[in-house]
Amino acid sequence: MSSIHDELLARSMAVMPGGVNSPVRAFKSVGGTPRFIRAARGATLEDVDGRVLLDYIGSWGVAILGHSHPSVTKAISEAALLGTSFGTPTEGEAELAEMIVRLVPSIEVVRLVNSGTEATMSAMRLARAATGRAGIIKFRGAYHGHGDMFLVEAGSGAATLGVPSSPGVPESTASHTLVANFNDLDSVASHFEAQGDQIAAVITEPVCGNMGCIPPEPGFLEGLRTICDDYGALLVFDEVMTGFRVALGGAQERYNVRPDLTTLGKVIGGGLPVGAYGGREDLMRMIAPDGQVYQAGTLSGNPLAVAAGRTTLGILESNPDIFSELEGTGRTLGLGLEALGREYGVPIRWQSSGGMGCPFFSETPVTDWQSSAATDSQAFNRFFHGMLQRDIHLPPSRFEAWFWSTAHSTTDIDRTLTSAKDILAGGLDA
Ligand SMILES: *Cc1c(COP(=O)(O)O)cnc(C)c1O
Repeated sequence: MSSIHDELLARSMAVMPGGVNSPVRAFKSVGGTPRFIRAARGATLEDVDGRVLLDYIGSWGVAILGHSHPSVTKAISEAALLGTSFGTPTEGEAELAEMIVRLVPSIEVVRLVNSGTEATMSAMRLARAATGRAGIIKFRGAYHGHGDMFLVEAGSGAATLGVPSSPGVPESTASHTLVANFNDLDSVASHFEAQGDQIAAVITEPVCGNMGCIPPEPGFLEGLRTICDDYGALLVFDEVMTGFRVALGGAQERYNVRPDLTTLGKVIGGGLPVGAYGGREDLMRMIAPDGQVYQAGTLSGNPLAVAAGRTTLGILESNPDIFSELEGTGRTLGLGLEALGREYGVPIRWQSSGGMGCPFFSETPVTDWQSSAATDSQAFNRFFHGMLQRDIHLPPSRFEAWFWSTAHSTTDIDRTLTSAKDILAGGLDA
């Protein structure tokens, strides 16, 4: 197709695995050549050809205010003029930590890191230290970053590429990871019945976003809370994606369940690399230097990154209507797509929560990994490419949630639905 993208991909592939620095960017499951992007503004990406694409990747959930929000860009520029990294404490870190503690219901004390992966790995180390147990339970198809212990039946790029369990993860590590089915409390309870005294924690995305978007069924998160309490295990919500996206206080606020530990990332960096883990004070005080659980980072709490994060969270906090607007955008998209599906005889089910969601090409409800994996991948891939031809960039996998932002206008949503109508009218099985 567009030769400049092919050229850049060939050049990148010569020096980087797949030509990318994160697998799902490579279009492996949808086929074709990824677009190389040179700029992003509001709800759009601009590729190296100068084409402007309506963006539903949102940097994988980061861009809740759209791209290049003027206040965020200004905060980063101002911070840069004062120096880019000090390796000493700063006031900005305290401010960002105070905001997180104020806004996320269960977080009393927090540690900033550089990515979601770092946050989840560190939270598990803490959970193991606090309980003196090694086992963890994760859900089939859920993604918690690329830490060894999580690459067992993982979602996101791992699912997209069909690498359910990665080579290089020692058997001894994988053996401590027990896998259950999302929305299925019995599958969790049976692990606890068999070896409850060896399980340190249950980690879950409270709304799954890495096997498509799958909200928790009523009672599921509450049930996890009860089981963990019964067995003295910790409940860890991986809110790297849902934090500051499904509600101001994250999924724990929206669904009113209090985890012991929470991991954050994506939105809290405002487009720069920030992750965080936090929770009950008695647990968090076990982290060095207050306690013995070691975890550190040269660039953690980087002044540019916390400036972007503070500004982003500040805008969200002072505009409480943002989340109902994001919810409304999702509803319009969902009702529109499902209606088009009925009109053209294509089974489409929309599932969303706040500012994340996606359609499944499926006759039946999608509640877990198995039902997500059973959806129509051909239909998704044709739909994806049809949209891209119409300058709308969806995430290049049926296992990824779509992300929209405050910059997505009603005109953008109308255009999305008009394009979808065009594609569905032409048929997806040609
Ligand atoms: C993106 C994501 C991660 C990993 O975060 P990175 O910053 O990519 O390391 C972990 N958990 C969830 C739920 C995510 O969506």
